[in-house]
Amino acid sequence: MRYGRFETYENFLRELELFHGKPAPGGVVGLQMVNLAWELLPEGILMDVICETRKCLADAVQLLTPCTVGNHWLRIVDTGKFAAIFYDKVTGEGVRIALSMKKLPNWPRVEEWFFKLIPKKEQNLYAILEEISRAGADLFDCQEVVMVEKLLKLRPKEPPVICSLCGEAYPPSHGATCRGCSNKEEKLYRLKKEAVEPPQN
Ligand code: ZN
Repeated sequence: MRYGRFETYENFLRELELFHGKPAPGGVVGLQMVNLAWELLPEGILMDVICETRKCLADAVQLLTPCTVGNHWLRIVDTGKFAAIFYDKVTGEGVRIALSMKKLPNWPRVEEWFFKLIPKKEQNLYAILEEISRAGADLFDCQEVVMVEKLLKLRPKEPPVICSLCGEAYPPSHGATCRGCSNKEEKLYRLKKEAVEPPQN
């Protein structure tokens, strides 16, 4: 078992809880997934990751690998599934690892946690984590995959332009106006007042 930049499992667990804000069994499942990916992929590749859920799995990937949302080596494509694709960003070859619904019944504490079968306060975090560690790779289904072409394209390094409607900067590939102003995207907020001046120091 490897823990990325952490020396021990305990160190990883402590950091995961700090980063995630609370204990995260899903992050510990993520530790097993990342280890399986390291095992299955050739050494020394430049790995990109697509995480298929917005939950704690993505936090484990960010703690254990160099891939973060901010550097775009980790992307979230929210299919809502507890799965991630780990692949060579040059060749597009990789593995998709998903929590196995066939194997999950072999691990009753993990199953109770995942499907919320018993109230959280009755769940035993220690027992869940212990079972995840014992299960290891036996929690997952694995498939070899090749990523579709458009996911391998390098992001254009385009300088931002200024939106003629709101005056804020945005990437020109988004269109004639920014996504905040175009009606394509749902509005995120409504204004309370016309404008607020930042407080003076
Ligand atoms: Zn705009």
